[in-house]
Amino acid sequence: MQWKIPLSDIDFGPEEMAAVDDVLRSKWLTMGSMTEEFEQAFASYIGAKYAIAVTNATAALHLSCVVAGLGAGDEAIVPSLTFVATANAVRYTGATPVFADVAGEDDLNISYHSIERAITARTRAILVVHYGGYACDMPSIMELARERGLKVIEDAAHAVGSELGGVKLGVWGDLGCFSFFSNKNMTTGEGGMIVTNDDAYSQRLHLLRSHGMTTLTWDRHKGHAWSYDVVDLGYNYRIDEIRAALGKVQLKKLEANNERRRHFTQVYRNLLQELTPQVVVPFVRHAGVSAAHLMPVLLPAGVNRSSFMEGMKSQGIQTSLHYPPIHTFAAFRGGKEKYFLPNTEEIAAREITLPLYPTMSDGDVLTVVKAVAETLVRV
Ligand SMILES: *Cc1c(COP(=O)(O)O)cnc(C)c1O
Repeated sequence: MQWKIPLSDIDFGPEEMAAVDDVLRSKWLTMGSMTEEFEQAFASYIGAKYAIAVTNATAALHLSCVVAGLGAGDEAIVPSLTFVATANAVRYTGATPVFADVAGEDDLNISYHSIERAITARTRAILVVHYGGYACDMPSIMELARERGLKVIEDAAHAVGSELGGVKLGVWGDLGCFSFFSNKNMTTGEGGMIVTNDDAYSQRLHLLRSHGMTTLTWDRHKGHAWSYDVVDLGYNYRIDEIRAALGKVQLKKLEANNERRRHFTQVYRNLLQELTPQVVVPFVRHAGVSAAHLMPVLLPAGVNRSSFMEGMKSQGIQTSLHYPPIHTFAAFRGGKEKYFLPNTEEIAAREITLPLYPTMSDGDVLTVVKAVAETLVRV
């Protein structure tokens, strides 16, 4: 399908092509200087002591759950209104995700009160997701976590460059996880990053990323080491030099591209208010600086969402859903009966995500909003 206005688009130019070309010519393809440079640039941009690059954000979340100490018999509190990887990462460790509700129509993030209600004697961690790049209530959540002795892992897959109180998201919690998947604010195709200020976490994350081995092929290549020990149950979650090179270039473009995303978000808000006041626009009064990853809106109750999406598609405009709630999935069966998440269920049934990407234009936004208005009349 050739969309007139796709949901998202990538900002790649000759800089990305040249960076990849350089790596290919160097013939050193994994865990070398590109990865180290990308990690250093990312850590310094986010304001974290350490950044550890991995193969994707799902791996980042998994390793974060491992080093946070999650295991069989433990519980971790997770929003249900997120991508399934947030909850799967908890399950990989043998722990159980316990789903919390979102705050409301204005704020699609995990609710503080729902977290508080979900805490039991088995709770060990809270995984927060900054939906669309908009910050969760980190000051309150961190205070609660410290009082109860819980670890906080930030799923910042939508929030690269977001800030709250002048501090970047990802360093508010004990561990922060980022995604560089193709539709995220900066991309390496597949890729992810973990940030932390904790020395012990950083050390263990480096081990776990590469088989629990004490030395790397890179060290041996440079003549720094001959052999190695295996000191932990590790994984192969390494990124490669091609992706790290892409990441370095994409990181340089991030601030300008996030600024464009925020601009289009504001244009959307003004036009939606004017042309379709019956559509609810979340996060309008939100604190902090958002990376504006998504443009979610809530259709009026009773609108047939599938017909609405078909109507948009017939005008060449791609829309999406964020998200079908995790507690309703077959692989999480028992969830829907077990959980009472009225805000999540009501909001998830009305949510539609409109196109948002840095290379779009004000005219594209007007086209989308006009199409929303026309489609709503018909469905
Ligand atoms: C994209 C995404 C992930 C997974 O990222 P990958 O890099 O594709 O593994 C996790 N959580 C959220 C909220 C996401 O949007």
